[in-house]
Amino acid sequence: MVGDRVPLRLVRSGSSLACQLGRIDRGKIGAMDGPDTVRDTDGFQPDSLAGPLEILSRHSGGAAPARMFVLSAPSGTGKDSVLAGLRRRNIDLHIAVACTTRQPRPNEVDGVDYHFVGREEFAEIRGSGEFLEDAVYAGHGYGTRLGPVREALNASRDVLLKIEVQGAATVRLKVPGAVLIFLAPASLDDLRERLECAAVERGVADQADIERRLVEARRELACLPGYDYLVVNHMHRLEETVRQIEAIILSERTRIGAVPIRV
Ligand code: 5GP
Repeated sequence: MVGDRVPLRLVRSGSSLACQLGRIDRGKIGAMDGPDTVRDTDGFQPDSLAGPLEILSRHSGGAAPARMFVLSAPSGTGKDSVLAGLRRRNIDLHIAVACTTRQPRPNEVDGVDYHFVGREEFAEIRGSGEFLEDAVYAGHGYGTRLGPVREALNASRDVLLKIEVQGAATVRLKVPGAVLIFLAPASLDDLRERLECAAVERGVADQADIERRLVEARRELACLPGYDYLVVNHMHRLEETVRQIEAIILSERTRIGAVPIRV
């Protein structure tokens, strides 16, 4: 048997290739009997009454077949617009609300955008091991609480964490089955333009702040090889970006042999 993978049998039915869960008689598979098409079942016998998701769950030790996604992006790349796009497309996801020690911005709502906490409270949560991951970014603490993530996974809901690169590295170590998506601008010039436009819209022209974010973006882009997927958010092509991320999520939901998510 290979890891936690589920057995697969490939059967031609009419002109289409049908996949059935069950034991494989390797001798009869012939040309399809290759390492990419067939997984050894190691004696696993699915209950004929069980549905495919139940079979998957049982085979992975009863772990919920929910997935965990991490979305990281340099500041200004358009991560929040992409998430709003996913919501518009009714992608069912639990988007974790993080704790932060930074002050709320105008229009941000406590408990919706973030849980805004003091430094002492943040340190307490951290000390009691209640964070799945946490990091310091621009001098402020950011952390994802374990409880709500666990609850969502137990209810078989996929979870998405929108976190920066240090937090993503922690998740990679603690949750090997998590799927890491990096959302990048087409170029640093493109990102500069986005940051300048956003500054004009907000009515604050802080060139030093823009330069600081660009330096940070360079550092974050260097972490790209540690991710599973790269999605480029081209200017004025938001819907295309949203569709690409949706495609990743939908594909990962149907992956057989994914590492079970346990937190
Ligand atoms: P902002 O303060 O601009 O909302 O977020 C700054 C950065 O912190 C963004 O890259 C954002 O994705 C990241 N971030 C938000 N919440 C968390 C969290 O819980 N953990 C980590 N590691 N990063 C977070």
